[in-house]
Amino acid sequence: MSAAATAGPNSILLHRPTSAGPAVASSIRLPARASKVSCAAVAAPSSPHALTGAGERGVYNFAAGPATLPLSVLQKAQAELVDYRGSGMSIMEMSHRGKEFDAAIKKAEADLRALLAVPDTHEVLFLQGGATTQFAAVPLNLCAGASDPVDFVVSGSWSDKAFKEAKKYSAASVAWSGKDGKYTALPQFDAIKQNPEARFLHICSNETIHGVEFKDYPEPKNKSGILVADMSSNFCSKPVDVSRFGIIYAGAQKNVGPSGVTIAIVRKDLVGNAQPITPVMLDYKTHADNASLYNTPPCFAIYICGLVFEDLLAQGGLAEVEKKNQHKAGILYDTIDASGGYFICPVEKSVRSLMNVPFTLAKGADFEKQFIAEAAKEGMLQLKGHRSVGGVRASIYNAMPLSGVEKLVTFMKDFQARNP
Ligand code: PMP
Repeated sequence: MSAAATAGPNSILLHRPTSAGPAVASSIRLPARASKVSCAAVAAPSSPHALTGAGERGVYNFAAGPATLPLSVLQKAQAELVDYRGSGMSIMEMSHRGKEFDAAIKKAEADLRALLAVPDTHEVLFLQGGATTQFAAVPLNLCAGASDPVDFVVSGSWSDKAFKEAKKYSAASVAWSGKDGKYTALPQFDAIKQNPEARFLHICSNETIHGVEFKDYPEPKNKSGILVADMSSNFCSKPVDVSRFGIIYAGAQKNVGPSGVTIAIVRKDLVGNAQPITPVMLDYKTHADNASLYNTPPCFAIYICGLVFEDLLAQGGLAEVEKKNQHKAGILYDTIDASGGYFICPVEKSVRSLMNVPFTLAKGADFEKQFIAEAAKEGMLQLKGHRSVGGVRASIYNAMPLSGVEKLVTFMKDFQARNP
């Protein structure tokens, strides 16, 4: 009996398509909300309809991470979920050393290299433990021991956490801190008090909680020229000259995939010098020597990242993606700035993040609560600011459609008009 002949109400379990897609997709029963989905709508330019629409999935998700993913990616993953490209099993159920996963991880790496123009001088590693684990892995790999000096720009909560963790494995110093200014600015580069003996200079390219983003990067003054960046929340949101960095690392769950995989791009000459106490899983050499397959990798997360990379390439690459991000963020910041002080973004204009837009309401915390609750009723979710700072935060990563930002700013103007 052929597989197709068994098609019936349970056909999703039995049908074995030869290619990803329509056959399977059409046999899956979508939940009520997902039935509103239209692939074309994902990439569709904004329309007046979008101003009143509730998003392709019934809501717009402004979460800081895990965050919204492109609908087309989710649909492709859904179509391939139970039977990955004719294998008869999902990508979660097969050996990470088999040909299917091998092809998926190689393609993901190749596409990421193409997107960011990663030079041959750098390894691309798919790791686990979140960006938080890299806070330890970086000094463990780059410093000979706990007395090696290293420099940190502390521009928000994440770089502060990275600094504190690095102190365990290096002699870490704060070369500049934005704490006194409540993390609303970044330094002029010559104000960073770099130690020329420092092994590396660490920055967080985008502070997810405070919404400050480096638009250019400081030159490390250390002898070996190592600049390290935590790019978790703006990874692949714009082109970056990777050659300027010794290490770039990023948890995937904001711009490029689900939580569970952390990507590190590491200059090859920095691999292989880890401190003797370094756990095997934190030593970049372990992963570089084994093409990120030393142990069982987060297969599904890597696969989804691969789909996101394909999608970003299909959009025309990161220069195009950056233009869209600038446009979306511009609309939101303009609305805040034109509100006559009703909405306030405390971040200095020149370093405002394209990804995370924090703001407060001059009328106070009760109105912020009301704003967030009413927005949620309108299908705009997860707008609450981080618990450490309060207020409102709109995370508008690559996958947030322009229509979501348009709907938000329309709502903001309406809220202001109703609550003067
Ligand atoms: N760095 C930044 C900039 C972040 O936004 C986050 C997570 N929100 C982290 C590090 C920590 O990442 P993870 O949860 O993957 O450890």
